[in-house]
Amino acid sequence: MVQSIHPERKKWPPDNTLGVVCSRCGCADLRVETTRDAPGKIIRYRLCRHCGKRITTYEATPATLAKDN
Ligand SMILES: [Zn+2]
Repeated sequence: MVQSIHPERKKWPPDNTLGVVCSRCGCADLRVETTRDAPGKIIRYRLCRHCGKRITTYEATPATLAKDN
């Protein structure tokens, strides 16, 4: 089945991403602006390509136990 992609008609929830979608327009086309290291997690600042909304995501790192500050 071939389904064309409609930029303004987004699929919800999108299953082809890491689960991060823009909370304003719902698109999953997010650009990673900055990646920061935090204790036990990685903080990513993303920018929506459609509306420019900034989204902050947190990712747990497997190496949490190895770090002991
Ligand atoms: Zn957006």
